[in-house]
Amino acid sequence: MKSSVLGEELSNTQKVKTGRTTAPQQNVPKPSMLQQTITALMIVGPLGGLIAAIVIFFGHGITLVDLLLALIFYAITGHGVTAGYHRMITHRAFTARRWVKIALAISGSLAFEGAVATWAAQHRRHHAYSDVTGDPHSPYIYGNSFKEKVKGAFHSHVGWLFTPQSIDVEKWAPDIAKDKDLMFISKIFPLLTIISLTLPALLGYLFTFTAAGALGGFIWGGLVRIFLLQHSTFAVNSACHLWGKKPFVTREGDEARNFAPLAILSMGENWHNWHHSVPRSARHGVRRHQIDTTARFIWTLEKLRLVKDVHWPTKEQINSRTKITKYRLGNSDIQ
Ligand SMILES: [Zn+2]
Ligand SMILES: [Zn+2]
Repeated sequence: MKSSVLGEELSNTQKVKTGRTTAPQQNVPKPSMLQQTITALMIVGPLGGLIAAIVIFFGHGITLVDLLLALIFYAITGHGVTAGYHRMITHRAFTARRWVKIALAISGSLAFEGAVATWAAQHRRHHAYSDVTGDPHSPYIYGNSFKEKVKGAFHSHVGWLFTPQSIDVEKWAPDIAKDKDLMFISKIFPLLTIISLTLPALLGYLFTFTAAGALGGFIWGGLVRIFLLQHSTFAVNSACHLWGKKPFVTREGDEARNFAPLAILSMGENWHNWHHSVPRSARHGVRRHQIDTTARFIWTLEKLRLVKDVHWPTKEQINSRTKITKYRLGNSDIQ
């Protein structure tokens, strides 16, 4: 296997006529009824919370405590996924002190998006086979007609979570399989999901000393926050492979795009065309005014000497990956 951990091609798979490699044929067992039910609860539960929040909002509004809990938990767990799960653990865009690595992996686990080891293995598979056979969540799986694309969009957003998937952590994430901290955090993922829901409820109670405060914390800081964050991440898999610009060089057939409207909610993960062009880059929004709070967060950690070996993109690298000359950067354009 050749550097698959960094989202590059595998060398031990067969070539197809596009020149891309695809996954070898495999018989993957269907997920069990119990697994399907747990997945459904993790997706539908937060949706129920959103509906409850809307009903409560029109009856009683939202308190400042509810709003702050939602925002703070969104920022902490969201950057746990983007900086921790994604850029640090999956793509090794930087290395962190041990306690920072543990804190980021735990924060990401609170996002209800799966345990860190399987999340990273699945995502590396996505980079190895982006939009060809073997990609766990390509929207192009059914074809390119309008109807097939609608079906594919649903599959890439949430449908894929219910389809048989080969998740081989030993194969796709041998570095993580050897990391005792990350494997332990993966093991206690169910406990972390319970903490993710109960902690905002507890804080809601402690700020107000009322049952309504605890319920508000549970709904806004828990369920609504999880719903919004889950769907922002899912939209990187769906919208960012369907709509937006492709200014950078990627492999043939790789449909990753820069989808600007998702910048704030996805914390910079929406600059997905650049990400597929240079998966190890710590910054995804490489142009001026491309909001990337995850990159800013990593930059802050670097200044505080909590992380090192950060793979910042250089002007030369950005220019060499830019397809159209007129978009290449001048001396003053590098962030
Ligand atoms: Zn992608
Ligand atoms: Zn990635």
